[in-house]
Amino acid sequence: MSESSPLLPAVSSFLSSPQQLLIDGERVDAKDGQTFATVNPATEEVLVQVAQASAVDADRAVRAARDAFETGPWSRMTPRDRSHLLWRIGDMIEERAEEFAQLESLDNGKSLASARGDVGVAAELFRYFAGWATKMEGTTIPMSVPGREFHAYTRREAIGVVAGIVPWNFPLTMACFKIVPSITAGNTIVLKPAEQTPLTALRLGELLLEAGVPAGVVNVLPGFGDAGAALVDHPGVDKVAFTGSTEVGKKIAAAASGNLKKVSLELGGKAPNIIFADADLDAAIAGAALAGYFNEGQCCVNGSRLYVQREVFDQVIEGVAAAARAITVGDAFDPATTMGPLVSQEQHEKVMGYVRGAVADGATLAAGSADPAADRGYFFSPTLITGVTEQMAVQTDEIFGPVVTAIPFDTEDEVVAAANNTVYGLAAGVWSRDLGTAHRVGSRLRAGTVWLNTWHADDVTLPRGGFKQSGWGRELGSFGLDDYTELKTVIAELR
Ligand code: NAD
Repeated sequence: MSESSPLLPAVSSFLSSPQQLLIDGERVDAKDGQTFATVNPATEEVLVQVAQASAVDADRAVRAARDAFETGPWSRMTPRDRSHLLWRIGDMIEERAEEFAQLESLDNGKSLASARGDVGVAAELFRYFAGWATKMEGTTIPMSVPGREFHAYTRREAIGVVAGIVPWNFPLTMACFKIVPSITAGNTIVLKPAEQTPLTALRLGELLLEAGVPAGVVNVLPGFGDAGAALVDHPGVDKVAFTGSTEVGKKIAAAASGNLKKVSLELGGKAPNIIFADADLDAAIAGAALAGYFNEGQCCVNGSRLYVQREVFDQVIEGVAAAARAITVGDAFDPATTMGPLVSQEQHEKVMGYVRGAVADGATLAAGSADPAADRGYFFSPTLITGVTEQMAVQTDEIFGPVVTAIPFDTEDEVVAAANNTVYGLAAGVWSRDLGTAHRVGSRLRAGTVWLNTWHADDVTLPRGGFKQSGWGRELGSFGLDDYTELKTVIAELR
């Protein structure tokens, strides 16, 4: 038995009193006094009460962000000063890494090791974008008008007020995905964290104030979908940056049409993971387990549909099933844990429902179970399902849990057609020792990210986003910054 990590005094203190909204640099209660409980998914116990924003609070927060954008020092700060501040925030996050990791583990359920990795990404995001603050360049463009002379150039300018709306699977990093490019480009932002996991976004909001980000530049508005919808409807918001389900993404695209705000959407996925018989099977098996089960399978890019060439199907299934059984499901604070609980009771019931449905339809569990993995807490064993058809719900729907389905294939054309037979297009993967096969199949897959002989390899420098109903726009890398700016063309006549 390994020993659990002790709770840091800073975390105990953070959880000792109700958490409030963060608007205009102040911690405030919701106008109507409403609160909601955030729960530890490992124990089902309430961690702390959190103020629940309504449309009135969303309006307060948007006004604060608008005021900070129009009058505050942020949008007029020199790029170099902004860059230095962003870099310093990266350092401050790293100095408080364990505090953020513990809060994230308690609120989301993920293992401490996994949460520490997320905090590292958050710090790196600030440092990466600190570099871009001084490099938002335009171009000079020649014009051809006979007899007249012009100087024409472009500028990248901030859009204004951003509403960032994020899910619960990577609460801190998702918050940073929206906050960091927004403020790098000189925008201000109202961030609505997911109702299941509001804590690290609130702690980050405090840290940004401590670091010297002016009041109103970053506002944090915990609450439910109605608070998110109020932001999307608000005429004072210029851009919505949303990560979440395709279902809610469609509602946002429709609602944002009021004042034609810009919209970027990072939505759901159902990624195909294709293993050819000539692959390095040890690597492919380990990769398939990582693809399916990392972050409790609660990843938009998780490799939930495994396709294996028939001659190695049994061998791969045996290997992935063994890898699934080797995963230690347990409390996030136990160092032996490699998989924590699912985030909520609702998510637990949803995942169980899909697995039970597949079994009722005649599928076979090669690993895992259709039952909870513990009496208390939302634990669920990593599951591998065979005997699946393309029509079963477990194969067509995004489950967002540690559930992988496996289907054998014979030819490249057959597997490409099956892999692309989905409304989603977020990620895909190919395993083959033949470079031609890997790159050719990779180019035929309709997905925003394609991994060849690897999975989940990633960096803040790389753009990510979805084909088809997996989204609009790209996040991170230089492409990600473009989505947070307007392009202005300036034409001067040289008289
Ligand atoms: P969700 O769509 O239910 O909720 C996401 C956020 O939207 C939450 O903050 C929620 O309160 C808010 N919301 C709900 N209804 C709203 C409305 N009508 N208007 C405005 N906001 C509203 O998603 P979830 O269950 O929290 O997260 C899981 C989903 O997120 C999965 O589909 C997953 O694939 C997706 N996701 C995508 C990416 C990506 O990069 N593409 C990354 C992580 C998660």
